[in-house]
Amino acid sequence: MADSRVIIVGAGPTGLTAALFLVKAGVPVTVLESRTEIYDDPRAATFHPPTMEMFEDSGVTQRLHDLGIVCPKWQFRGRTEGVVAEFDLGLLAHVTRYPYRLQCEQHKLVAILADMLAKESGFTIHYGATVEDVKQCESGVTVVTADGSVHTGDYVIGADGGSLRRLTDEPSGDFLPSWSPDGKWIYFTSDRTGAMQLWKAPSAGGLAVQVTRGGARESWPSPDGKLLYFTRRGPAADIWTVPAEGGLEQPVPELAGFNRIARAWGVIQQGIYFISRQHGPRQEVRFFSFATRRVSSIAILEKEPTWNVPTLALSPDGRSMLTVQLDHAVNDLMLVENFH
Ligand SMILES: Cc1cc2nc3c(=O)[nH]c(=O)nc-3n(C[C@H](O)[C@H](O)[C@H](O)COP(=O)(O)OP(=O)(O)OC[C@H]3O[C@@H](n4cnc5c(N)ncnc54)[C@H](O)[C@@H]3O)c2cc1C
Repeated sequence: MADSRVIIVGAGPTGLTAALFLVKAGVPVTVLESRTEIYDDPRAATFHPPTMEMFEDSGVTQRLHDLGIVCPKWQFRGRTEGVVAEFDLGLLAHVTRYPYRLQCEQHKLVAILADMLAKESGFTIHYGATVEDVKQCESGVTVVTADGSVHTGDYVIGADGGSLRRLTDEPSGDFLPSWSPDGKWIYFTSDRTGAMQLWKAPSAGGLAVQVTRGGARESWPSPDGKLLYFTRRGPAADIWTVPAEGGLEQPVPELAGFNRIARAWGVIQQGIYFISRQHGPRQEVRFFSFATRRVSSIAILEKEPTWNVPTLALSPDGRSMLTVQLDHAVNDLMLVENFH
């Protein structure tokens, strides 16, 4: 390994940490970074004891201490409750030399690593080098950047972080996404035709296809992926089905009469859970079993749920349920001045 060259894609904290440990172990490293300089977004700001232990021998830990704030205790605070819980990391003094959190922004770590690596003879970094292709062959790896440069090495480490990929780009509202069970499709609601309808787009990218024609709000696929269950806008807001390929849209007959369901329902392997919203704060959660085709009551909620966001989630085994209940409501007075 000591004779091998490692190519690292990305000069964030992950890439440069890997680079430092490899170079210190005598392994030459080439880092390819698409930016033209090290980024200094604040992002993460806390170092925990194991990280400080890991960086101790390299001297990084000391340099982080020169820039950071030692924080032995940390707290959860509520806006009205004050301190809800306090954690005293001093209690770990018998197991670590760093019984505290160190507050120091992540870009300072990146700058320290870049500075230390610059002094290492086995280290090379290319800025403005966006990796576009990686190929493996018997003798190692070939990495090609956007300007056509080719870098060869024995191993490549992808430390390019996460990135966003746009799936839809119509000038429309696209929202309420869900996955098909096989992961190949993303179902979503879109108003791109002027009315809210269900659409589906390949998760690997590609053209979106319209699924419903008669109007739709939110959807969940059936466990076998063949159907989409969906609600419609309007006062009924009952549950309908449509084949995932598109086709006949029809209400689920056993759920006739259960309406005002929007935002409080979902589908699991065994059936559909939902709240058919009633007048008054206490709401009943019901379950429609695919096996028996019957509806049963599974809970009466003690407090009003929150209606403007998805508010129910049943565990995959159907034994536990999450609800979002309205605990506090705050109203403020606003003064409008100088009008006649
Ligand atoms: C706004 C924001 C706030 C955050 N807040 C926190 C927080 O409070 N606490 C916390 O723990 N974490 C936070 N994070 C997450 C934390 O920043 C990341 O976990 C961390 O940056 C991951 O480090 P990384 O080195 O793996 O990737 P990155 O830091 O993303 O670095 C990847 C590098 O690879 C480069 N790159 C990407 N593609 C290529 C390519 N094709 N070729 C060459 N180079 C490429 C990029 O330019 C970048 O420099 C936050 C992230 C963001 C975006």
